[in-house]
Amino acid sequence: MLKGHTAIVTGGSRGIGAAIAVKLASMGADIAVVYAGNENLAQDVCDKCISEYGVNAKAYKCNVAEYDSVKETVAAIKNDLGNVGILINNAGITRDGLIAMMKEPDFDAVIDTNLKGAFNFIRHTSSLFIRGKYGRIVNISSVSGMIGNPGQANYSASKAGVIGLTKAVARELAPKGITCNAVAPGFIGTDMTREITEGNEAIVSAIPLGRVGTPEDVANAVAFLVTADYITGEIIRVDGGMAI
Ligand code: NDP
Repeated sequence: MLKGHTAIVTGGSRGIGAAIAVKLASMGADIAVVYAGNENLAQDVCDKCISEYGVNAKAYKCNVAEYDSVKETVAAIKNDLGNVGILINNAGITRDGLIAMMKEPDFDAVIDTNLKGAFNFIRHTSSLFIRGKYGRIVNISSVSGMIGNPGQANYSASKAGVIGLTKAVARELAPKGITCNAVAPGFIGTDMTREITEGNEAIVSAIPLGRVGTPEDVANAVAFLVTADYITGEIIRVDGGMAI
């Protein structure tokens, strides 16, 4: 279904990003796994894509917050794998804290990774999409960016920013046939949330569907948006109904 296209998945070494990489590989896409430091995990994801689905896959160490590194990484991916047509902006971090005590570096790091990181990759891939006359961008936001979350002013701001970015880019690139959508997960069981969610009955009882989500739940929504030709600027919650 996605054969002939290369998908860039930022933060593809673990958690939600790893599930997205494997899902898109199962649909035939070649995969570029972008990671920050976990080289072995990134390589494991690539190996799985190659051995189970017979696609090409390669890992790229790149800090998404660094404009020039992203530029170089996109050029390397284009050179190695070609036909860059799909971008999943998934890399993200949290640095939680109450607003009255939040440290400036923690605010900046979260905005730079979660919001500017998405900008950097869209900025450096959009000309490839325009030239290739095909492009599917899916940004991973969060329900925190839709409803706000105490103790997460930096994170909520970054994820709300991702929604604005998604809508503006969707309008701007629609005339070129390129779509840009977002997925807003609720609580998903990954390294990011393990400490908060494991055994936390209060969280589970706030989720109408009665369970924490899996990375595959999010990957399925991403796969839907990547294959949808007539949806752009949309934000799909994958939260078990938490933010209804
Ligand atoms: P994890 O903490 O499990 O994984 C984070 C991933 O992002 C890793 O692959 C990590 O690479 C990569 N990464 C972090 N910083 C950078 C950076 N500066 N440059 C490049 N890569 C980076 O996170 P999740 O899988 O839980 O989250 C994925 C996305 O989903 C994030 O954007 C998060 O905000 C969002 N989300 C998650 C929710 C959840 O409940 N888990 C809920 C809502 C949204 P490495 O392994 O090399 O460190």
